[in-house]
Amino acid sequence: MTGCIISFFEITYNEKYRFATLHNFGCTFRCGICSYKLRSGADGAPGQSYPRPQKFLTKSEMKRALRSVEVDKVYFMGGEPTISKELPEMLDFAKNVLGAETFLGHTNGSRLPLPNLDGANVGIKAWDEQVHQEYTGRPKSLIFNNFAAGVRAGLEMKANIVFVPGLVDIDQIEAVAAWLAELGQEIPLHIMGYIPVPGQRYERPTDEQIQKAKEACQKHLRNVNSSHLTVQEALDLTTRDDRFAVRKIT
Ligand code: SF4
Repeated sequence: MTGCIISFFEITYNEKYRFATLHNFGCTFRCGICSYKLRSGADGAPGQSYPRPQKFLTKSEMKRALRSVEVDKVYFMGGEPTISKELPEMLDFAKNVLGAETFLGHTNGSRLPLPNLDGANVGIKAWDEQVHQEYTGRPKSLIFNNFAAGVRAGLEMKANIVFVPGLVDIDQIEAVAAWLAELGQEIPLHIMGYIPVPGQRYERPTDEQIQKAKEACQKHLRNVNSSHLTVQEALDLTTRDDRFAVRKIT
């Protein structure tokens, strides 16, 4: 990532649900199984969902686009949105100028909490330290500590985890659920079945494995759900949920 401009490059808007999403390029982690590689291919860098954008947005361009629509919520997505140097000012603008609620729609949790942020959906990768290192290239402590700090700060915190048979199995997922329950049994946990990405050796879990993982987590948490998408479904989420039916506003 050295020498790479990391910033927001696109804003989309969902008219029905009145939310805008700022999309960031790049990530601080190096997850070999990053689902963004479904678009960028086996040689694509993790967290880089598209070919490198031709252009990144200035703060003025982002503010102008956000003022042009009616928004109740503003989401920041990646890659990893917290690596954008513009994030603090855009959070302040969304929260205090537009009066919108602000969320990190997908984050690896390495920078939490943040001023003017209402909530975050954190992708927790693994419970076992060695697996976490192998998976992401980073230690797990920062992520878990930051998640707990987000809860203590009163943020609306959600967690998700990818079930990767042979890497992140049910025992790891249940351990994460038990840890989350100590922070609050109402914290939502979403278990996602791994979607095979190019160049990786892992297989999809079965429906039965996903169900078992869900049941194991429900012993600890009250709000557990799951998804088990195919590659095609992951590449076109609009077929499953109209929250993904968005238009680009800049
Ligand atoms: S943290 Fe998320 S976006 Fe970043 S490389 Fe890992 S899976 Fe990809």
